[in-house]
Amino acid sequence: MKLHCITLLWQDFNIVFIVSACLLGLKCRWNGLKYPAEKRLLYLSGAIPLCPEQLGGLATPRAPAQIINGNGFDVLSGRARVINSAGIDVTLEFIAGAQEVLKIARQNKISRAVLKERSPSCAVHCLYQGKALISGMGVTSALLLSEDFDVLSSEEIDKLYA
Ligand code: SF4
Repeated sequence: MKLHCITLLWQDFNIVFIVSACLLGLKCRWNGLKYPAEKRLLYLSGAIPLCPEQLGGLATPRAPAQIINGNGFDVLSGRARVINSAGIDVTLEFIAGAQEVLKIARQNKISRAVLKERSPSCAVHCLYQGKALISGMGVTSALLLSEDFDVLSSEEIDKLYA
């Protein structure tokens, strides 16, 4: 019942896309700190802020993690794992968080997302492997793209106004 009411509220405010919660200044980053809120997103009424790593059950702050030897698609297909700086395998949490984002989007008939570049969950074009930036998507971005979402990078926000 409560979820139903929230869903109606979202529809009333014309929500049109999912956004990485940290882009709106929420303290969900691995280190518990926040980025300055992205003003171009704050002034749009249609954003649902979500953090897939939190939705997957990881705490904040948490050890930083990286995809090892692959990208988000490789993680989803079982060819790569997500390992944190303590050496703990957090692959299942990353996949669970991505699936939760997809579920919430589906419930709200949303098929567009703006996601934080360079994150192992949210990266759209590039992410870290060690200290190097490589081409590739994060786990959540890869899942949303494979479900035919329109996925924009945090560095492509201007396209929302196009
Ligand atoms: S980049 Fe994605 S997973 Fe990381 S803090 Fe932001 S919303 Fe959460």
